[in-house]
Amino acid sequence: MEYSSEALASLVNQISLDYFGKPYHYEVMFNARLRTTGGRYVPSLNRIELNPKYATEADKQEFIGIIKHELCHHHLYIEGKGYKHGDADFKNLLKKTGSPRFCTPLPSQQETFKHTYRCKSCGQLYKRRRRMNVAKYRCGKCRGRLVTV
Ligand SMILES: [Zn+2]
Ligand SMILES: [Zn+2]
Repeated sequence: MEYSSEALASLVNQISLDYFGKPYHYEVMFNARLRTTGGRYVPSLNRIELNPKYATEADKQEFIGIIKHELCHHHLYIEGKGYKHGDADFKNLLKKTGSPRFCTPLPSQQETFKHTYRCKSCGQLYKRRRRMNVAKYRCGKCRGRLVTV
């Protein structure tokens, strides 16, 4: 499904009200440069960025899941709580709101990237065309260990 920016803003606000009991009246936008992730939250800008491919290719439940995940980051950040992937506050809120910890690769990506690895510490996903030696390589973001997904 394609969303206008108004439709996207009202969808995010509705999900925020439904699952968090609070409105979301900050910025939300599609960012076509997001490749391996369904979305991200930029705390310094108070902005949620979503991968437009997940709106069109993934099913709606999954797209909503991504929005819920980003809203977890947002609401905790606003309230001065632990909003990062490793924080207990974050993990608890994911659980409470039934939000996914990771998003599933898109059908279009599964064809080209046969091998998926996930950082054990921060959850960052890496997709590779070739097999990678997980004993040798570490997460580029946090130096954590990688596991095959
Ligand atoms: Zn996240
Ligand atoms: Zn990492």
